Amino acid sequence: MLSEFNVIERFFARPTSIKKASTVLGIGDDCALLSIPEGYELALTTDTMVEGVHFFAETNPEHLGHKLLAVNLSDLASIGAKPMSVLLALTLPRVNEEWLEAFAKGFFSLADEFSVDLIGGDTTSGSLTLTVQALGLVARGKSLLRSNARVGDFIYVSGSLGNAGLGLLFLQGKTALQSSVAMTQFNTPHPRVDLGLKISIFAHACIDISDGLVGDLGHILKQSQVGACIDWLALPLSDDVRAYIQQTGDWLMPLTAGDDYELCFTVPPELVALVPQYCHKIGVIEERKGLRINRFGLISDLVGKAYEHFS
Ligand SMILES: [Mg+2]
Repeated sequence: MLSEFNVIERFFARPTSIKKASTVLGIGDDCALLSIPEGYELALTTDTMVEGVHFFAETNPEHLGHKLLAVNLSDLASIGAKPMSVLLALTLPRVNEEWLEAFAKGFFSLADEFSVDLIGGDTTSGSLTLTVQALGLVARGKSLLRSNARVGDFIYVSGSLGNAGLGLLFLQGKTALQSSVAMTQFNTPHPRVDLGLKISIFAHACIDISDGLVGDLGHILKQSQVGACIDWLALPLSDDVRAYIQQTGDWLMPLTAGDDYELCFTVPPELVALVPQYCHKIGVIEERKGLRINRFGLISDLVGKAYEHFS
C-alpha cells in the first residue's frame, strides 16, 4: 500500500526550502549528504513515539508533528548543540492524507523556527510509530555533558516544573483542574535550544527534563558521582500546578512528572550572574551521594519518597 508512492517525498520533501549550507544533498537519493564545518563535532540523537505508549490514540496530528521534533531538538539543546538537520521515519496503519498534512504542518512550523532541514526519511506500514533522528553541531570539546557536575555547583532549571504533568493528569481524568498552560506544555513543548547554546559557554552539566526532575537530575548525579540537595520552596511552579498541589497534597508531582522538556543544569557559584533570568536556582551539588530535598527545613531522601509515591 505504502510502496505505491513515497509518503516522505509527497508530504515532506520541500526542495526549495533547504536552508542550511551544510546540507549538500537532501531528500531524493539513497542517502543525504552533509558537510561538517571545521572545528565542530556532530551531535546525534533519536527518539521514538508509539501510539498508546507515548501518546493517546486520536491525538491531534499537528501536535504530534510538533512534539516529535521538539523532544529531539530538546536532546540537542541539553548537550549545547545547534540543530542542523533531521531524518524522519513513520510507521503508519494507513495513508491518511488529512492526518499527514496536519502532522507535516506541526513538524515544519517548528523545523522552520530553528532552520532545521529534513534531509531524508522512510515510511512503513504498521501500528502508528513516529521516529526522528536529529543532528546538530557543537564546537569541538564544548558540549554539555551529564558527567561534568562539580561539588558546590548550583542547580538550575528553566521555565517551571510540572505543567506537562498536570496536562497529562487532566487527559487521564485524574484531575478536573483545566489549565491551558498545562495543555500547551504537554502538547507542544518548546525545546530550549537557545538556552542550551547560551549556557554551553559556562555551565558544567546539563540534561533535559523528559522523565521528571528526580530521574533526570539523578542521571547527572550518577554520571558525575556526586549528590544534591533540592530546596522545595525554590521550585518554579505555575499558579495552576500550585493550585493542583493545594487541592491534592501531591507535592511530588512536579518533581516526578515528565514531558516538560525544560533544561536542568549546574553552574559554578562564581558564574551564576551569567544565567538567564527565566532560569531558577533550585539546589546545590554536594559530595554526599543521593538526592535530598529540603522541605520547610526538614531534609529527606527524595528518591525514596518518589519511589514510595509510585509503588
Ligand atoms: Mg534527554
